[in-house]
Parts: sequence; structure tokens; C-alpha cells
Amino acid sequence: MSFSTLGLRPELLRAVAEKGYTEPTPIQAGTIPAILSGRDVLAGAQTGTGKTAAFVLPILQQLSGGTGSGPPRALVLTPTRELAAQVADNATGYGRYLQLRTAVVFGGVGINPQIDQLRRGCDLLIATPGRLLDLSEQRALDLSRVGWFVLDEADRMLDMGFIPAIRRVLKLLPPQRQNLMFSATYSDDIRALAQRFLRDPVAVEVASRNSTAERVTQSLYRVQKDSKRHLLAHLIQEGNWQQVLVFTRTKHGANRLAKQLEGAGIAAAAIHGNKSQAARVRALADFKGLRVTALVATEVAARGLDIKELPHVVNYELPNVPEDYVHRIGRTARAGAAGAAVSLVSPDEEPLLRDIEKLLRTPIPAAAVPKFAIIATPAEPDRPVQSGGRRSGAGGNTRSAHGQQGTRRDGRRPIHDSGRGRGGERSHAPHGAPRAPDAHRGESRSHQHTGSPSRTEGPGRGAGQGQEQRFGRERQGGERPAAGRDRTDGGWRRA
Ligand code: AMP
Repeated sequence: MSFSTLGLRPELLRAVAEKGYTEPTPIQAGTIPAILSGRDVLAGAQTGTGKTAAFVLPILQQLSGGTGSGPPRALVLTPTRELAAQVADNATGYGRYLQLRTAVVFGGVGINPQIDQLRRGCDLLIATPGRLLDLSEQRALDLSRVGWFVLDEADRMLDMGFIPAIRRVLKLLPPQRQNLMFSATYSDDIRALAQRFLRDPVAVEVASRNSTAERVTQSLYRVQKDSKRHLLAHLIQEGNWQQVLVFTRTKHGANRLAKQLEGAGIAAAAIHGNKSQAARVRALADFKGLRVTALVATEVAARGLDIKELPHVVNYELPNVPEDYVHRIGRTARAGAAGAAVSLVSPDEEPLLRDIEKLLRTPIPAAAVPKFAIIATPAEPDRPVQSGGRRSGAGGNTRSAHGQQGTRRDGRRPIHDSGRGRGGERSHAPHGAPRAPDAHRGESRSHQHTGSPSRTEGPGRGAGQGQEQRFGRERQGGERPAAGRDRTDGGWRRA
């Protein structure tokens, strides 16, 4: 099938051709004609399936001929700022031969330039919910002319607690409009949300219900928590991995692991909500440019990153919410490329693994744990370092806190056989083995950077801003409430 059969305008076909797309992806072939015919659409598509173009192209087509000088006529809501920026980039690219104006607004950056931008007018607005509501409260935004509304990554919206904000946004929209909802997974909550605002939707699903991306090779290693970093360094080095996205549960955990990998001589960077937008952009650029081998990311920060043909994803810690596993491994095998997803599972994560396998309806194959070297650990500021244990640069640092001996010149400790290491540093020690004193330190508490207060939803903030802050804020024990936790949006509860 070619793009020209979808009924798109020549200007859009030209832009798509210049992007190098030869044929529509299945989600594009399924949704574009339905959207152009004016129907509401409920689309189930994994990340990386080309879903952005699936809604952006037909919306641009219907917006064409606009002046861009008034309030937005189309609104796309996304859960994260990265995704918002990415959708806006795509929209600008696809719409380059149409005289349309696209604007993007999200939290974490100054609001005034966004107010100025909205005053100038736009045709298409892409926004995260909190900032959108802030702008509306400040009367800087008129949503009464929105004729097309898209809820992108609706399942993430639910997970991140954006339901009350979405309800408020819906009240600001005019009743006559076309609605599109995209979601990687179809839980009962998602269906309930769809029923709330979609009218007689066309359902388009390209992946079977809750299936993982087909070409991703999945495997897991059962390993003690304290040994994970050593095994990860081994896998990266021995496998000669050039680009791996590693998921941790917390921001502090991401920072620490990035440092530890650096200590093992692996170029690494952390990306999470406490990093400035500039730092995130830089880390991502270094990763894409292969100057950084391991990008260590929290769930939320990784969401929306468009990294083409990412070969390796590692779940350093399993997600609390099983659906997140599907999202994470969806980072590989994007748009036709093959990928491998590896999970490092410690004994305490077995219940999470069971939930994931239940969702997948298939077990994840367990691989034999290879022999791996114990890597040296960089000193951390809040931990006294014994003499001779100072960091001496990537690959060359040592620490004697655990009484380890025989550190190699390259900074790596000798290869251990299963269970023969000492204390918490032993390799894949049996369950119940003693943990290193720093084991998992800080991973269950909120982290504050250099003494500055962490962002909170304190009194005096606008509710909308609070929502946006919620996205950027680290929760106790993770970035979002655990599954099953009650929400405050009128009894909604995860299945
Ligand atoms: P998305 O799922 O929208 O994040 O898209 C994932 C990736 O697929 C992006 O890098 C897009 O540029 C790319 N893409 C989208 N549509 C096509 C297509 N028809 N052919 C090839 N690549 C595409």
C-alpha cells in the first residue's frame, strides 16, 4: 500500500516522502482514512508503530487552509513534555508545505514565552495537561474552538494520575469535535475513559491485546540485587553493546547506576525528571550520537524518547505496573528494527515478574547467569571512603569498603564464580545472602539534589500546576503509585 491511496493532500505526501517513508505503517493505514472520514477513533498501538503520523497527518489535512492567528483548532494531549516536544517536531515536519502554525506547551519551563506564543495564535496545539490547565486558568488560552482532540498515550495518562486533569480539559472543549484516543494497552480503565468522550469510535488495533512488540527478544537473569550492576557492566562489555537504554525505578537509582557504569569504563548518562531540559536534551543527543553507551532512565523520562532502532533495553528493576514492561521493551524494535530486552530480576521482584508474565500470557525465558567481574564502585558523597578508595577516573577507581581484594588494573575485580564472592558483593549469591551496606540505598526514598527542596504539590499551587508537578516529582518508592492504589478521581482504581 502506498501513502497516496490514503486520501492525503500532495503537500503532506511530499513531506512524508522526504521523511523517507515508503508506505504507511499498519496503524497509519488503519486510522488515517477513518479520521479523514470524520469518525472518532480508538487506536491501540504500541510505541514506535508510527502512531504520531497516524493522527497528525489527517489532522493537518483537515486544518489546512487555516490562518494560525486565532485560538487552537486542534489539541493533542500527551503525558510527558518529551512526547509533547516530539509530536510537535513531527507535526512541524509533516506540515512544512502547509501554511499552518503549531505550538507546544509543557511544564518545567517558563510560562511567559508560551503565553506570548499563544497570543500570536496557532492551528495545532500540543500540550501536557497541567500546563494546559495553568494557561487556561490564566486566561492565556481559549479552547472553545477546538474541533479535533487527541489523547495520546492514554494508558500513560491513567498511570500518571492525569484523569482529573483530563476531565477538566474535556469540560473546556466545545461539544462538537472529533476525538481520537491512542493507547498501547487496553485495560478496562482505558475502555471506561474511551466511553467517556469518544462517540461511536472506529476501533483500530494493530497489535493483539497487550502483546509485546513482536520482534523483541526477551530474556531475564535471576540475580541478587547487589550483583545487578556488575552483571549489567559484564553484559554491556562482553556483548560489545553500543547503545543500551537502562530502566531504573528512581531518579537517585538512575544517577547512581550511571556513575557506577562510568566507574566500570562504560560511557553512561542519567535522564530523569530532576534533570533540566537542557541536560536531558544533551544526554539524549550523546546517546543518539553513540558518545554515551548506556542511557539510564526512569520510566517517565524515557517515555516519548524517539530513539530509532534501539538494540538493547535493560530492565534494571522491574516496573511496579506490568503494562510498563510492555512500554519499556517497546523502545526496541521500533519501526521495523530488531531488538533485545533483558530484565535483571532479584528475588524480591518475583511477584512483579509473575504479574508481567500474566499480562504477557507467556513466561519470559530465563538465561543462565554468566560469570561476571565485580566492578569497582565510585565513591558517593554521603559515604565515607576508606583510604585508597578514591575515584581515579573511569575504569580505574577502587573502593575497599567491602574488604574486596585483588582489584585489577582496569578497575574490575576478579571474575567470581556463582556465590563465591564476599558479603553483598558476591556474584549471584543465593537468596537471603547479606546485602552490601549500600545496597539499594536511597531507592525507596525521594532524592533531593544538592540540598534544594524536591518539587512538591504544596498549597498555593494551581491544581493544574500540581498535576504537572506530579509528573516531575519522585514518589516514595517510585515515580507513580503502585497498582491497586486508590485514586482521588471518583473511585477510579487500576485493575
Ligand atoms: P511513533 O510511533 O510515532 O513514535 O513513530 C516511531 C518512528 O517511526 C518514528 O521515528 C517515525 O519517524 C517513524 N515512522 C513513522 N511512520 C513511518 C513510516 N510510514 N515508515 C517508516 N517510518 C515511520
